[in-house]
Formats: sequence, structure tokens, C-alpha cells
Amino acid sequence: MAITDLDDGGLSALVSELGGKPFQARQLSHWIYRHGAADWDECRNLPAALRRSLAERGPPLGSEVRETVQSCDGTEKLLIELRDGETVESVVIPDGDRTTLCISTQVGCPVGCVFCASGLDGVRRNLDAGEIVEQVLHARRRTAGGAALTHLVVMGIGEPLLNLDALLQALARIRDQEGIALGARRITVSTSGYPDRIDRFADAATGVNLAVSLHAADDQLRRRLVPTARATVAEIVAAAQRYFTASGRQVTFEVVLLAGVNDRPRDAAALIGAVRRMPCTVNLLPWNPVERIPDLRRPPPFRVQKFAEALRAGGLNVTVRKQRGADRSAACGQLRIQAALGRESPDVQAEKAEPPGLGSE
Ligand code: SAH
Ligand code: SF4
Repeated sequence: MAITDLDDGGLSALVSELGGKPFQARQLSHWIYRHGAADWDECRNLPAALRRSLAERGPPLGSEVRETVQSCDGTEKLLIELRDGETVESVVIPDGDRTTLCISTQVGCPVGCVFCASGLDGVRRNLDAGEIVEQVLHARRRTAGGAALTHLVVMGIGEPLLNLDALLQALARIRDQEGIALGARRITVSTSGYPDRIDRFADAATGVNLAVSLHAADDQLRRRLVPTARATVAEIVAAAQRYFTASGRQVTFEVVLLAGVNDRPRDAAALIGAVRRMPCTVNLLPWNPVERIPDLRRPPPFRVQKFAEALRAGGLNVTVRKQRGADRSAACGQLRIQAALGRESPDVQAEKAEPPGLGSE
């Protein structure tokens, strides 16, 4: 088990097993989560014997950055290799005085939305809590010389609520004031539905923001887009409403817009009918083309604007996702697929990550 998979109790037990003192568990945790140590030698105030015993178990982090892809607008994708050789992606997105990190929760995705690269080959496994947290640690090291990470979105590969226990443990670590200390209000978890799990997530009272990928308000159309979905739109919206009531955090509904599929006036009207009774924002995501999904189209900008205006006329708050380099070159999951195929994105410059400092040899 990686060090980052341990909660504070587990960390104390390990340090005492290795002959350390209880306060040294706290020091160790500060080194990893507050200072971002990636090598036991960096943990200077830990006794050499303890550092040696820790090193015998392995490096502080179980994953490493295998490749990075930089876009001209500053967006950077990290391809992260996990202990067993599987890979996931994280994306660092600078935007003015914000720097948002997008992280993954599963290797692949079992939901299989018809427009998404992440689910094309199903799911291989869940990430452990430590593998989720380590994405933040890797990204923070990459941004160390520049702006700090200010926001976190759990919108990378996978369905976070289908890996709920690891997600909750990781969120506790990420929010911990003694460590990474990212505030709950700066964190957003995105889910493709699952009312019972939204309720469990609300019960955990993390205080983070929830985004719900709705895509269509008509049940038949939604089932075409999210073929494994069992819950109805009404059930999903009701769960979102309960999340708002429990957390006080306004929910965002996401709609991936596909030309001629769910961007018609009647789709806008159905959406207004489904969500207007609750305080919320609708975030429109014009589809990012995926090479292996040739039969879908991204709507032209004027159509996206018309859709947004129709929703606004119906009284909804609407945002439209900006097109970023990471979107253009590789929507969710595509870097991982390209790596598996041994290919690089055509319109971005790929560089191999520098090994030093990113996990000890
Ligand atoms: N599984 C979760 C979170 C990861 S996907 C979910 O579905 O919400 C994060 C967001 O990216 C979702 O709203 C999803 O619908 C959207 N998305 C996936 N593939 C996309 C693509 N090719 N273009 C635009 N948005 C996409
Ligand atoms: Fe999975 Fe989300 Fe992609 Fe759907 S959109 S396949 S739920 S990652």
C-alpha cells in the first residue's frame, strides 16, 4: 500500500511500526502534503533510520508523470503512470488569476457515454485514494515556480461517484488544512447521475460543489447518450436538488452539445422545464471531437449561442465552456488512448517528463 493511501491513523501506525515517534507521523505528513516531498531524503527532520526504513518500502509517491503535453494557451496535460503501469490523465488549466487542476478517478470509465473518449474501452479499475491525491501532488510540483493551484475539478477520466470511498478519502486529504489545504468551495466533483450515490455524497458533507452531467432532459434521448443510465432525469434532478438543500452549494448541470442531437430548440425547452425550479447553473460544453467517434459533430458557435439564449430566456443561468488547448488536442481520455497506441497528439508539442524530482529512483 502506498503512503498516500493511508489516512492519519494509518500513517501513525506505520511510523510506529518502523520505530518512529507519534509526532514524526505528523512531520512525515507535512513533508508529503504541505511541502510536496517526492524523495525521503527531502524529509530532513526525520531520523535517518526512519527514512531508510521508509525507503525500503518504496518511494513516497507510487505514481509518476510519464509524459506532458503543453498547449500554446498554457494548458498542460500530464499522463500519469500508476504503480501497475496503467495510466490516467490530469490537466492543469491556467486562466487569469486561477489555476484549475482536472483529475481522474478511474482507469477508463464504465458509463460509456456515446460522445466520450474515456469510456470507449470500458473501465479497467478504480484509482486508490492515494492515486487520486498524487495527481494533485504531481501538478503542484509542475506549477511550483508559477501560480499555485487554486481550484480542483474531478472531471477527468472515470465516474467519481462509482469510486466513492476512495474519492471521499482523497477529498479529506486534499482539504486537510495541515496539508494540501484546498478549500471545499474551490473543489467541484462532476457525476453522470446515480441519485443514490449523490445522496451518499451529500451525507458525507464535504461541502464541495457538485456538477451533474445531464446532457438532455428527455429520458429517451438521455438514454441514447448515456446508455448505462438507469435513473430518470426527474430522479437525477431531484437528487441534485437534495444535494443543494443539504450542502447549500448551487449545483451545475452540464450539457455536452452535439449538433443535431441535443442542441435543438425543443431540447432547450425540455431542459428549462426540467431544472428551472431549482437554483442552478447550466454549463454548455460544445463537444470536442474524438477521432474514434466519427459520427458526431460539434455544433457551430452560432448554434451554441442560440441554445444558450433560449435557456437564458427561460430564466436559467448559463455558462459556455471556453475552448482550451487541452480540449482541442485531446478531450478527456484521449492522451491516454494515444499513449496506448504509441502516438502523440497532432497539434500539440509533446515532451518527455523530466525524471528528476518526480519520484525517487
Ligand atoms: N464522469 C463524470 C466526470 C468526468 S467527464 C461525468 O460524466 O460527469 C467530465 C465532463 O466532460 C462531463 O460533463 C462529460 O460529459 C464531459 N465530456 C466528456 N467527453 C467530452 C467531449 N468529447 N467533449 C466535451 N465534453 C465532454
Ligand atoms: Fe464516463 Fe463521464 Fe465519459 Fe460518461 S462522460 S463515459 S461518465 S467519463
